[in-house]
Amino acid sequence: MDWNLPYLNDEHKGLVMLMKEFCEREVDIKALNEIGDQPMSIHSTREDVMARMPWDLISKAHDAGLRQLATPEEYGGGGYARDHLALGACAEAAGYYGGEFARLIAIPWKHTCTLVTSPYASKEVKDEMFSHFMENRKAYFASSASEANHGSDYTFPYDEPGKTGMLFARRDGDDWILNGDKQWCEGACISAYVLLTIRTDPTGPISKSATQFAFPTSTPGWTIRINDMMGNEIVPNSQQHFENCRLPDRYRISPVGEGLTIHRGAMAFLALYHHGWIGWARRVWEEIKEYAKTRIQGGRPIIEHNNVGMMIGEADALLRSARLFNYQYSWECCQPEQINPLPFYYGTWYFKKVLTRLMEIGLDVYGGMGPQKELTFEHWIRVHLSLFHGGSTGTFALVKAARVLGQ
Ligand SMILES: Cc1cc2nc3c(=O)[nH]c(=O)nc-3n(C[C@H](O)[C@H](O)[C@H](O)COP(=O)(O)OP(=O)(O)OC[C@H]3O[C@@H](n4cnc5c(N)ncnc54)[C@H](O)[C@@H]3O)c2cc1C
Repeated sequence: MDWNLPYLNDEHKGLVMLMKEFCEREVDIKALNEIGDQPMSIHSTREDVMARMPWDLISKAHDAGLRQLATPEEYGGGGYARDHLALGACAEAAGYYGGEFARLIAIPWKHTCTLVTSPYASKEVKDEMFSHFMENRKAYFASSASEANHGSDYTFPYDEPGKTGMLFARRDGDDWILNGDKQWCEGACISAYVLLTIRTDPTGPISKSATQFAFPTSTPGWTIRINDMMGNEIVPNSQQHFENCRLPDRYRISPVGEGLTIHRGAMAFLALYHHGWIGWARRVWEEIKEYAKTRIQGGRPIIEHNNVGMMIGEADALLRSARLFNYQYSWECCQPEQINPLPFYYGTWYFKKVLTRLMEIGLDVYGGMGPQKELTFEHWIRVHLSLFHGGSTGTFALVKAARVLGQ
């Protein structure tokens, strides 16, 4: 993996080396894949899914200073929440050297970044959450907006008054009473806090009727149900049910009615996941290439057959361009000017295209070996198909871009 990129300074490269050494020393990619493949019932309890998590590995990542890279320095963290290139490069290194470890470590980074950069989260809430995170090696964060009947509706948003968002929070003195459901949330079932975007005005358009909260999952009335996907990640995806959950107003992290703006402002941090996926895809590409160099058919390595060699070259070119695209976006996010959302939308569309083509190429090159479970490619393909459309489909990202272009 070439880390001589103009986007990365010496400090970034030092962090990448730290991640590389950690992954090479501590991460067993096959063992992580096996955890993801352990069967999970939709009726699994929080205790069941907590027991499945590789907390030892996460705790070692804490000892190495990696788990808390995004946490502010005043709490003992790395303080990199505003350095999109530092976290992006580390996520990419985690993906390349540690496969699924990238998601495992980057999910709490992303939500930490949201909280650090939120102008509305109070010091009290930050103190509570970051202290908890630093003191408890099993503390995890998640973020939740989408609902069963309102997925894209929440992100677009579909703004017809009173339509989008059924999970509702009603004001009751100094508290809010939450009732309803959220449908897909990465890691909610293992999280100590979920950053929740919820309707608080029953009649208005969702862009002006949602409010964001940091929700402690120890709150009575909160229950989960696992979403059992074909290629489960280690961090399980779950539904959440809220039944008369009483939440003090101090956990509000946006002005009332402006939660969606804050939620969408965290988009820049989603690029972290893209960095991680590209790193993992690079490793997969290298494995495909090595296979093509050793597999002999027609009397020579298949990479020497033009049809195979060209596909491997094509995948290399696509991955390089997706990688640079993503670094350019992360670099723009580090600049003081207001972030232009277009590169994010384009990047979401583009890297999904690239990874889909990599899957196709891998299946062609491996032939009958492609679906064999002994290859990490088989696991990678399943995980990616499962999480491919988290956030937005590629084409829908272009729909959002077109709307910006038309303004
Ligand atoms: C692995 C995974 C992880 C996820 N993690 C989280 C999480 O942590 N937190 C969270 O809140 N959510 C999460 N989600 C949910 C994710 O954000 C939604 O899946 C996404 O918003 C799309 O919603 P949907 O699945 O309901 O699809 P739908 O909204 O039903 O869309 C179906 C199709 O219709 C198209 N479509 C929808 N509306 C329009 C429109 N107005 N114009 C044109 N086309 C349209 C879409 O592009 C898509 O092709 C996750 C999902 C997955 C799969």
